[in-house]
Amino acid sequence: MNKADFDDSIEEFVRDSEDNLIDEKKAISPAVIGLRIFESPIVFVGAADDEMFREFASKDGIGKSLQGPFAWLPTAKSVISVFFPFTDAVKVSNRADKLEPSSEWLHARIEGQMFIDKATKYLLAYLEKSGYKTVAPSIDQRFWSKTAFNPATPHPEVSFTSNWSERHIAFLCGMGTFGLSKGLITEKGMAGRFTSLITELELPPNPRSYEEPYEYCIKCGACVRRCPANAISLEKGKNHMICFAYLNETGKKYSPRYGCGKCQVGVPCERKIPKRI
Ligand code: SF4
Ligand code: SF4
Repeated sequence: MNKADFDDSIEEFVRDSEDNLIDEKKAISPAVIGLRIFESPIVFVGAADDEMFREFASKDGIGKSLQGPFAWLPTAKSVISVFFPFTDAVKVSNRADKLEPSSEWLHARIEGQMFIDKATKYLLAYLEKSGYKTVAPSIDQRFWSKTAFNPATPHPEVSFTSNWSERHIAFLCGMGTFGLSKGLITEKGMAGRFTSLITELELPPNPRSYEEPYEYCIKCGACVRRCPANAISLEKGKNHMICFAYLNETGKKYSPRYGCGKCQVGVPCERKIPKRI
């Protein structure tokens, strides 16, 4: 199997899967029946023995908790990162109201994540069937992630971290750099979702065409102005606690769904790497 085979396989899955569409039974309103959540994905590859995994481990934040590829799969050769951009219908719908998430965005956040989990299982099975042992941390039993400090949960000592981070892996694979709002800016922008796989399949790694973690962010401040919770500042970036509290409020209102994403739409990095002026 080569990279083109893998790309074709996920492209086809996104195009043909019924789970990428909102059906009548799930739709919040008639206007979203038939909504397509994701457009064509992009795929980047990193080496399992990339030095950057060691650098992550030596830094505060995610680094302290992140387990490198060999902890998940001792025979790992490659790490594959996949970004699924939201469709225009999802992105554009969430620009209009300054406070409330659009119905399309709420579906994209919740049913969208269900789709990502299915796509991840599909890719895992595809690689395994081709003879390559593979682990997908996001759906692996060993995966954990924490939001706020909570003494009643495993790893009570940490907050807003996990033992695998899709955006950090995408950064390592050369897919893009972080923005002020802490999303990852890729060639297809920031608005979308990620998954990744650790596999025995050896693929050529993509080069990282950047040196700094925030290189693609032009510090325009649009996400600061868009955030209804004032969770982002030019000086300090995003405050996870404020954002988390705001998302919880949307959960009370739109249960069983929640979402905001105003910092990812109507901004220069919504669908591309923004140009510096
Ligand atoms: S909106 Fe501007 S400041 Fe915010 S992440 Fe995007 S490029 Fe950076
Ligand atoms: S998701 Fe909403 S509350 Fe959180 S940082 Fe983005 S705009 Fe602000």
